[in-house]
Amino acid sequence: MAAISRTVLACLLCLLLSCSSKPAGDGGESSSSRAARPEGMIEQGNIDLTNRPVVRNADGTVSTVRSISVEIDGQEVLIPTVSDDGRILSDQEAVQQYRRTGRHLGKFNSVKAANRHARRIHQEQERLVVAGSNAKSGDPYAGGKAHDVRFPWPDGKRVAVSLSFDDARPSQVDVGVPLLNEYGVRATFYVSPSRVPERLGAWKAAVAAGHEIGNHSMRHACTGNFSWSRQKALEDYTPRQMAKELDQANAEIQRLLGVRALTFAYPCGQKFVGRGKRVRSYVPLVAERFIAGRGWRDETANDPAFCDPAQLLAVELDGLTFEQLKVLIDAAAEQGSWLVLAGHEIGEKGRQTTRTDTLRAFCEHAADPKTGLWVDTVANVARYVAEHRGDQGGN
Ligand SMILES: [Zn+2]
Repeated sequence: MAAISRTVLACLLCLLLSCSSKPAGDGGESSSSRAARPEGMIEQGNIDLTNRPVVRNADGTVSTVRSISVEIDGQEVLIPTVSDDGRILSDQEAVQQYRRTGRHLGKFNSVKAANRHARRIHQEQERLVVAGSNAKSGDPYAGGKAHDVRFPWPDGKRVAVSLSFDDARPSQVDVGVPLLNEYGVRATFYVSPSRVPERLGAWKAAVAAGHEIGNHSMRHACTGNFSWSRQKALEDYTPRQMAKELDQANAEIQRLLGVRALTFAYPCGQKFVGRGKRVRSYVPLVAERFIAGRGWRDETANDPAFCDPAQLLAVELDGLTFEQLKVLIDAAAEQGSWLVLAGHEIGEKGRQTTRTDTLRAFCEHAADPKTGLWVDTVANVARYVAEHRGDQGGN
């Protein structure tokens, strides 16, 4: 029996690949494989990707079809999960179809190489579909709806979710960490180092339980339009000063808790220093120091295949009921994306407070394997994303 080493993969825009396959050596190679053989490819695929039907949904979008890579006789074989009559197959059925027909999208020496190729095929197909729809409608934006990338989350998960909480507020360790620990859910805490000593022992215990400690800057500088930030207004900062304070905060976190902060959360979600013609983004400073930088009060989840890890979008968790949160999770699962949630206090209710009943319902939802949620820290998901999209040396 073939081992499905990872449920991978890049979804192809709804191309009924198997309907139009040709035997190997019959000119049925994709345009990419006709060029130089991709790194890690042992054998080229034998499915014709250039002449295949496209399934369009009633609403004008194009459906996606997953492919998977399967380890067979020491090789990673990339196979489509669509039957000859256009039905979506289970992983086992897809393997059976491959055994019966011998049709595949390529054989590789590693899962990573297979993933890379699956993504390349997807991108090529997307271009074809978008170009086709533009030609028909004459509208240069008409193809936009075709964009639909499925990312290979681990163990066949459908969506990644990271919980994060800012400012090292005591309720996070008093109330939040014990609740999360009950379910084995790990979160990311973006700490203001000056507040850590208020609950030093509890923060150390949070680290020991596997939660991530991230950097939230030394002074929590935001725009001076907040009166509390007027004396430390980003408008009055220089990049050099910001760089120095990012490093100081890292050193403080290391000193207090013995860990290196791998990710950062922009205070107030603001990413600039200076004003007018002298405004500079401090995103590059974050990209140089961290594997990810998290925003605040954004509107959507991150597309793992596309997002800039130094500017991850984060949706506000405070005040949400579980029903409201589930709408966000379901939308992210639909796209296979990475939902990063950001909150402050953790308690029953109140201003800037993530509700304990919501958090508990979330943990229970996540514990049900049917939901397909991968819940992990920002750093762990960021590392996985970097590895699986072949980023070279971080961002
Ligand atoms: Zn904050």
